[in-house]
Amino acid sequence: MPKVAIVTGASRGIGREIAKNLAVKGIKVIANYNKSEENAKKLKETLKNEGIEIDIFKADVSRREECKELVKYTLKKYNNIDILINNAGISEYKLFTEESDEDWNRVINTNLYSAFVMSQEVIPNMIHNKSGCIINISSIWGQVGASLEVIYSVSKAGMNGLTKALAKELGPSNIRVNSIAPGIIDTDMNKHISEIELKELEKDIPLEKIGLPEDISRCVNWLVDDMYTTGQIIGINGGWE
Ligand code: NAP
Repeated sequence: MPKVAIVTGASRGIGREIAKNLAVKGIKVIANYNKSEENAKKLKETLKNEGIEIDIFKADVSRREECKELVKYTLKKYNNIDILINNAGISEYKLFTEESDEDWNRVINTNLYSAFVMSQEVIPNMIHNKSGCIINISSIWGQVGASLEVIYSVSKAGMNGLTKALAKELGPSNIRVNSIAPGIIDTDMNKHISEIELKELEKDIPLEKIGLPEDISRCVNWLVDDMYTTGQIIGINGGWE
């Protein structure tokens, strides 16, 4: 039986690459999107042309009811969930003193609450199967903090805490929970950074280059196959710390 994976925020960037590569690996993928319906349809179409079927499903994962619908759809269609990739996320650049309650709620709900809710919704099925793999896409900023991205850094540090604690709670059920903490990856999330600034950033990275979405999906594919790694925060950052 092929494994089944839900990837949140799979319409663009890192999530899209993760969904694509899991599908190429033979896993049944439910690629979640929220606003970018055209991109999600394009991903489905591209894979279909290669003979690979994926499902796309619209849900705002910052809302529990929509997460429930996403999980309900998956269980109805495949009767099983083996893998959850909590990837959906947004960033926010502001001085800390200018951040509002709305900013806090938007970033925390999208980046952290979504991982809490999606995990809660899939875990009963994983416990029943005595098998599961949850991967949280956090960030280097959750480890070292970033100026002008305090709420984002909090959300990703929270995700790392969720990973470590949940890995302990779910280990006896043979459910592995890990975080991947990317450094800087070439996606829309960084399109506000100028070419000159990117070149400057590259000088600080030991491997002297910005990462690509496939650098993250390669690690996801490895974690999905692995059987003895849990509770880890894996930095994929070109050595940038
Ligand atoms: P991106 O290109 O901006 O893509 C973000 C994705 O998240 C989109 O598919 C978007 O879907 C989805 N999303 C946002 N809000 C959502 C919501 N409420 N419900 C469902 N989906 C939602 O960003 P990215 O760089 O690929 O980032 C992916 C993850 O990696 C994020 O968690 C980010 O924090 C993390 N990360 C990125 C970097 C980096 O340098 N790029 C570094 C460290 C960590 P729609 O467009 O369909 O709404």
